[in-house]
Amino acid sequence: MLLGAPGSGKGTQAEMITRQFGIPVTSPGAILRRERDLGTALGMETAETTQHGGLVSDKIIVELIEDWLRLHGGHGFVFDGFPRTTPQAESLQSILERLRTPLDLAIWLEVSEATVRDRITSRLQCQACGFTTSATSAVFAERQICPYCDGPLVRRMDDEAVVLQTRLAEFHAKTEPLAAFYEKLGALRRMDGNRDREAVFTDISRLIEQAA
Ligand code: ADP
Repeated sequence: MLLGAPGSGKGTQAEMITRQFGIPVTSPGAILRRERDLGTALGMETAETTQHGGLVSDKIIVELIEDWLRLHGGHGFVFDGFPRTTPQAESLQSILERLRTPLDLAIWLEVSEATVRDRITSRLQCQACGFTTSATSAVFAERQICPYCDGPLVRRMDDEAVVLQTRLAEFHAKTEPLAAFYEKLGALRRMDGNRDREAVFTDISRLIEQAA
């Protein structure tokens, strides 16, 4: 699993892991954005919370993960942005025990507040397929069109400064204590997430290969 503050690059790293190792990834944040765009009951129920930067209830998130694991979790998994609270981590432990599946790694991407602000203010995401990039990338600075599906590259609504403040406060209050939780289980690996994506991915790949 990949854990870290908003802007830590966990989404990007998760995509790279899937591409390189063929391990399926699930991200509650991405699922909830898609549900919101599709206008489903789940999307409507959670839109208000995600838009304001709060955390969605543990019950909803754990159900999402359980459903996903039942369908796709048979041959390994990467969690991107899950768990984010101690109750979520405890629920996951009992689910994994039931499935007799060990947790190999909890990778903690450490980023400075300056990195978070830089990445979030320049982040662009495709409205159609979710591809994420940065407005600082020369290719997208002028023509903000997705290279994969031609969808429009836009800023995420929850990336504006006021909402980011709430997301960071939630991270410090509820997610940071999980470092100690996974340290105790012997699964935690801390990593400097301030570096470029390739450098971080090289280190993550090494950890995955060692755990295999
Ligand atoms: P980021 O890490 O950049 O904040 P995510 O895409 O992971 O972005 O999450 C977006 C939003 O989705 C969060 O601010 C929160 O409202 C909701 N969310 C995602 N994952 C969880 C989770 N594990 N528990 C509760 N809420 C979540």
